[in-house]
Formats: sequence, C-alpha cells, structure tokens
Amino acid sequence: MKNAALAIDVGATKVAVGLVTREGEVLARHDISSKVSSMDELNSSLVEAISDVCHRDGVVLVGAGIGSAGPIDKDLGTINPVNIPHWVDFSLVDFVREVSGIKSVRIIGDASALAYAEFVLGAGRGATNLMGIVVSTGIGGGVVLNGEFHVGRTGNAGMIGHSVVVQGGNLCACGQRGCVEAYASGTNMAKDFGVDNFEAVAAAARLGDSKAVAAIDKGASVLALGLLNAVALMDLDTIVVGGGVMLADDVYWPILVKHFEKEMKALNFPGNVALKKATLGKDSGLVGAGLVGFIS
Ligand SMILES: [Zn+2]
Repeated sequence: MKNAALAIDVGATKVAVGLVTREGEVLARHDISSKVSSMDELNSSLVEAISDVCHRDGVVLVGAGIGSAGPIDKDLGTINPVNIPHWVDFSLVDFVREVSGIKSVRIIGDASALAYAEFVLGAGRGATNLMGIVVSTGIGGGVVLNGEFHVGRTGNAGMIGHSVVVQGGNLCACGQRGCVEAYASGTNMAKDFGVDNFEAVAAAARLGDSKAVAAIDKGASVLALGLLNAVALMDLDTIVVGGGVMLADDVYWPILVKHFEKEMKALNFPGNVALKKATLGKDSGLVGAGLVGFIS
C-alpha cells in the first residue's frame, strides 16, 4: 500500500486534481476546466474528478491539500480566485471534505504550494529560511521559517507581489499603488514594452532590442528591491524563483541576478543568500498542494 494525499491545484483556467505521494510522485490526475457557465457545472465536474482519483487500488489517503490563487482564508477554508467568479468566497475546504470523506483538508496559496514543493523536493532542499516566488502574470510567494512552512494568520504569508516599494507608484491590479507586481510581473514588463505578453518581450530582448532589455531591467530591479526587503525582514538563506517568466530565463535570469547582487551588497548583515531557479516545473503547484496534505 502507498500513502498519498488528494491534491487540488486551482489555476486560472483549470483545476488539477491528483493523488500525490510524499516523494512528489503524481499517482493519478484528472484536470477539469474552470471556464464553465455555472457553479453547479463546476462543482459537479469537481466531484467527478475527486471520485475518479480517490478510487485507486493500493492507495491509502492520508489527507488533502488545496493550492489556490489568493487571497484565501485558511480558517474559513474559502478562496477568491479572480478568474473563477463562480467560486468567489466559496468554501472549497468544506466542499472537498464532504465529497472526499477526508477529514484533514488544508488550503494554501498557489505560490505557497510551489514554495513548499521546492523546499521539500526541489531547489530549496536543505534551506532553513526560504522564500519561493512565482513570477508570472502576477507575483506570488510562500515562506519557510526555521525549517517550518509558515502560512501566517490567514494563510497569505509571502505575498511579496503586493508589498509596496514605490510610494505613489504605478497602480496595481489589487488597487494599491507601487506594488512589486505593478512593475515586475510578466504582464507589466510586457505592458512597459508595449506588447501583450512576456514571451514577446523576451523574444525582442534576445534580438538585442534595447527597449525590451530596459523593460526587463526595470521589472527585475523592482523585484530585487522586494527581495531585499524580504531578506531584511526575515533573514532568509535561500530564495527560489519559478513561474512563467522563468521560461525565458536565458534573458531574464542574468538581469535579476545582477540587481539582486547589487541590492544585497547594500545590506550589511546576511552574508550569502542563495538565489536559485525552481527545478520542479509545471506540476510543482499540484505536488506542493499534495505535500501540504501530509502535514498534520
Ligand atoms: Zn498590488
């Protein structure tokens, strides 16, 4: 018999449902679309997916973990995914508990799921104080402190994208001004360059377009400032960076490293802080949600 956790990863356009072992192996997987016309339709396809993956021979279910776009409320078990209007303030934890019969169901932010997966199985192995961040259409993060997964009071610790680094700066999607995300997300670097997506910025930068390089430089410099603040506040030893923007790490990574090293020189206490690329790839959100299901 194998121990496994039910893992649910709520993404922008789909919900991945799987069975994940403690070693990060995905034993079963059933994805459903979240682009549906009603909450009933979404919920019935979730019930089908859960019952499909849960009924596997030779597997003992030890718990369940849910990773979702934030903000979440870990005590109420609710999510507020911007892209899934049917699930605004929906208590996904209660729903999953009822449908699956699993008592221990934990919910975390999607970026926290990646951070935790990288800490346990990926680039963050061996770290003690780690922040994992996702640089994509938005910017999220998750935190491990003193070797323990740290989710904070409401479950949203590590939300570095909405830390403010420019007073009265650019308007962010969250309504504040001057957030890290308002400059450093893939979407906002693309906006700065005047295109729709970050792939187009990266492609132009590869051809030596100086405006594309400048847009990446601006975004990376603001993110480095956010990371400096995180290191100063939490005395981190490791930062792991993942997300869609890292698919263009050939152009993005050297620029981020340059700014990060410059910022770290100005901080007088931490010594070496390791800045690392995430290694677990696109399943890391699902795997992280599953690993959280093992935490009792
Ligand atoms: Zn914001």
